[in-house]
Amino acid sequence: MTKPKAIVIGAGIAGIASAIRLSVKGYDVDVFEAGSKAGGKLAEIKMNGFRFDAGPSLFTMPQYVDELFKLAGKNPGDYFKYTKLKEVCRYFYEDGLRLNATSNLDQFAKEIEEKTNSTAAEVYRYLKKSKTIYEVTHRVFLERSLHKLKSYLHWDTLKSIFRFGQIDAFRTQAKANQSFFKDRRIVQLFNRYATYNGSDPYQAPATLNVIPHFEYHFGAFMPKDGMYGIVKALLKLAEELGIRIHYNQKVEEIVCSNAHQVQGIKVSGKIYKAAIVVSNLDIWFTYKHLLKNIPQPKKLLNQERSSSALIFYWGMDGNYSNLGLHNIFFAEDYQKEFNAIWKDKTISNDPTIYINISSKHIRSDAPADSENWFVMINVPANSGQNWEQLIKEARANIIKKISRMLNRNIEKDIVCEQVLDPRSIENKTGSYQGSLYGNSSNNQFSAFLRHSNFSSKVKNLYFCGGSVHPGGGIPLALLSAKIIDDDISSVVY
Ligand SMILES: Cc1cc2nc3c(=O)[nH]c(=O)nc-3n(C[C@H](O)[C@H](O)[C@H](O)COP(=O)(O)OP(=O)(O)OC[C@H]3O[C@@H](n4cnc5c(N)ncnc54)[C@H](O)[C@@H]3O)c2cc1C
Repeated sequence: MTKPKAIVIGAGIAGIASAIRLSVKGYDVDVFEAGSKAGGKLAEIKMNGFRFDAGPSLFTMPQYVDELFKLAGKNPGDYFKYTKLKEVCRYFYEDGLRLNATSNLDQFAKEIEEKTNSTAAEVYRYLKKSKTIYEVTHRVFLERSLHKLKSYLHWDTLKSIFRFGQIDAFRTQAKANQSFFKDRRIVQLFNRYATYNGSDPYQAPATLNVIPHFEYHFGAFMPKDGMYGIVKALLKLAEELGIRIHYNQKVEEIVCSNAHQVQGIKVSGKIYKAAIVVSNLDIWFTYKHLLKNIPQPKKLLNQERSSSALIFYWGMDGNYSNLGLHNIFFAEDYQKEFNAIWKDKTISNDPTIYINISSKHIRSDAPADSENWFVMINVPANSGQNWEQLIKEARANIIKKISRMLNRNIEKDIVCEQVLDPRSIENKTGSYQGSLYGNSSNNQFSAFLRHSNFSSKVKNLYFCGGSVHPGGGIPLALLSAKIIDDDISSVVY
């Protein structure tokens, strides 16, 4: 018996995961990718002997990647290796405070108590709350469809609904954090977690305080071959499963019958038939370009987008022993920075700067006595700002701030540079307005205003990736593939 065909549009992380899951289910899978490489936002750049992970740099919940190998009957460790980070992030404040967030929570809490006006007890109380929010939300909001009645018939879903009051949805994250911590710098540290899904801590519900649980309870990790190693490992598995990935093949249309049944896709005028189609594109472009004849879910598509990023990839001639793998240089006035992004749609002149240096762990990512700096600030999604001017100003402000805080002229160490901004993020990855995580989570209803993982109009059409339920970031994008998998029956021979 010939296998039924499934087509995945886009080889982002969720597209590859969906392809693997469909193949394991018994489908004959083809992936059509517009670009020349797989990974989408999860990309890498090579320049003058330096290697950079171009997009995601923080890796949490590696078990969701491992799960794909296990599903295929393989040993994950034969394909993909990673280590748990002992040091999660180094924090630098303008007043000279330096904090080292370690995976050893007692050590981190002690450091906070010794160096700030906050106490270790405050940290424990906060992370206990973070755990509670995780317990109440993860099955309902992250691991199941919010759009199927059967999701609400589980006992654990009902229990979560009864515990809804505990998820802190009715005050902002910033307000909640002020009530947890005496020291405003620790409030700032934990407010930063809103940016992990491109949101604003001064608007987003305190439910987002679930995010630190991922980092402090499950841990932060580093793939042995860098973030792009995740893609390489999954591609190896996909190839072994017989999945065909067609590069430089931009899909033009999702073909549907009059009876609203998916029939396949169209690429360069040619129709490829399939029983199941999964779109990994940003949902906005899926509707605008590929599903023009289907009624558009305007309310969902018009939600506010998450923030974008401006990234400088700098090859640095020199070693910076005071920096680690993940480093944050905080803005003096955090609220002003978020007001600039969300209200004025511009970039603050004192942005919080994130520096990721993978060569601290992977020596071969930079030449001898050099480092590969991924220098990122949060910026608004693209709405036609004068980016050339903003990038010029931001670059100068970033160099000035880091040089001041490290007491070292960093500009003279920059030997090569590439830049990624909201426009190029949209061009390269098809993310509407260059937003990193689909819609923002700036209100309590955001979780319900993400598109479902299936079409209610077209049978056997599914959606995965960071712009649909349950949201952006590698772990949630992988969960979107899992939710689709749960909805599709295995092929019976
Ligand atoms: C700078 C940056 C930093 C980030 N940092 C982190 C982080 O530290 N940790 C984290 O977990 N997440 C992070 N993220 C978010 C994370 O990268 C994304 O949520 C995730 O990679 C999205 O994956 P996806 O499956 O939605 O696919 P995407 O990566 O969006 O890929 C979609 C794919 O579809 C292809 N495509 C588009 N149009 C077509 C078409 N018409 N036909 C065929 N193919 C098409 C694109 O070429 C692309 O390959 C970051 C993102 C960026 C950009």
